[in-house]
Amino acid sequence: NTHYEKSLQLFDRASKVAPGGIYGHMSPAACLPGASPYYAVRGEGCRYWDVDGHEYIDFMCGYGPVILGYNHPEVDEAAAKQRELGNCFNHPTERFVELVERLVSLVDFADWGVLAKNGGDVTTWAIQVAREHTKRKKIIRLKGSYHGVDPWCTPGHGGLIEEDREHIHHFAWNDLTAFQGLVERYRGEIAGLIISPWHHPVFADSDFGAPGFLIGLERICRAEGIVLISDDIRGGFRLNIGGSHEEFGYTPDIVCFCKALGNGYPISAALGTDALRVAASKVFLTGSYWNSAVPMAAALKTLEILERDNVIAKIKQTGQRLSDGLVKIGEKHGHSIKPSGPPSVPFYRLTEEKNFLRQQQWCAEAMQRGAFLHPHHNWFICAAHTDADIDAGLQIADDALAACVKQWD
Ligand code: PMP
Repeated sequence: NTHYEKSLQLFDRASKVAPGGIYGHMSPAACLPGASPYYAVRGEGCRYWDVDGHEYIDFMCGYGPVILGYNHPEVDEAAAKQRELGNCFNHPTERFVELVERLVSLVDFADWGVLAKNGGDVTTWAIQVAREHTKRKKIIRLKGSYHGVDPWCTPGHGGLIEEDREHIHHFAWNDLTAFQGLVERYRGEIAGLIISPWHHPVFADSDFGAPGFLIGLERICRAEGIVLISDDIRGGFRLNIGGSHEEFGYTPDIVCFCKALGNGYPISAALGTDALRVAASKVFLTGSYWNSAVPMAAALKTLEILERDNVIAKIKQTGQRLSDGLVKIGEKHGHSIKPSGPPSVPFYRLTEEKNFLRQQQWCAEAMQRGAFLHPHHNWFICAAHTDADIDAGLQIADDALAACVKQWD
């Protein structure tokens, strides 16, 4: 495949020195082997360039962190200003206090906050806080949900022992009765319930809470003394500046953010209520780079711009334009495309198949034509996507589907 020659050469080299070459969600085994770029060089706005010199309109935004666009000048300037002063010290800086204050003021129920680096840092910490607060062991989660790679929740298999999951129990999205059943079975043993604001599994449509589901979960948690944790790492700041729970009308005890918070600079946060303050102070929390001030300065600027430029309303509209366009393209070619989830974090699926093979072909054809479309994960919209970018992306999606249809029909 000469199209991705340099990507493949680099992958060859990587395979000799890194297990699997590329690991995690961009492992070629996990995403279109040989039919997608493996290495990026540079980004700008809603576009990036790969090592073979190809340009892509990006509909993944670095899997979510890039909410204002790659290389955003104001965010990078705020980061550079802090970098001049210093990044990593023995101590936190004033940026830490400013950012936590800001997050606490944005999130309606929050009285305190903590900062970390990755999403999994804060989801894992949050379940420890729930256990510390309740002195109970069990954690309930949704089947098909994703909360990171720590042993209690990783979707991987390597290196796990049964005991890692001994006190983790699952139920299906929108099945309030099943949750009630778990609560009755393990009454007095459940420390926490961790949910996403909407269900966003891979290889399946996204799903909103049915009427009464999320508020029903909240009510049961309150009645049973179960800590309700909202994992808003994927949707945070793309649906509502105060957290996606506001959009869906429930109130958690802890909310976890990451991805969009720093526009690509590594930072995550958990915010919680006064009732959990003592427990939160007891669960040890630190890391080599957790005090680094540059990502905090970037996050402060990102939040400022999100509010100032009304970014969330804009990306919802932009996402709707993309959805409407893709549905029309599906109709035109007689291969129906179904959108699901919120338009700013949408999921798309060719409805005629269950195995995503045609969908992979369609996305591969789109990549060769300059649009990065993901075959089985949510996409992400950013503020740098203009209507013209969406239309250019739609044209590519249209041409790509036309090329596929020639082979299929
Ligand atoms: N929760 C959700 C909903 C996520 O989407 C992710 C990241 N994809 C995580 C947790 C884990 O975040 P991280 O990869 O930064 O540890």
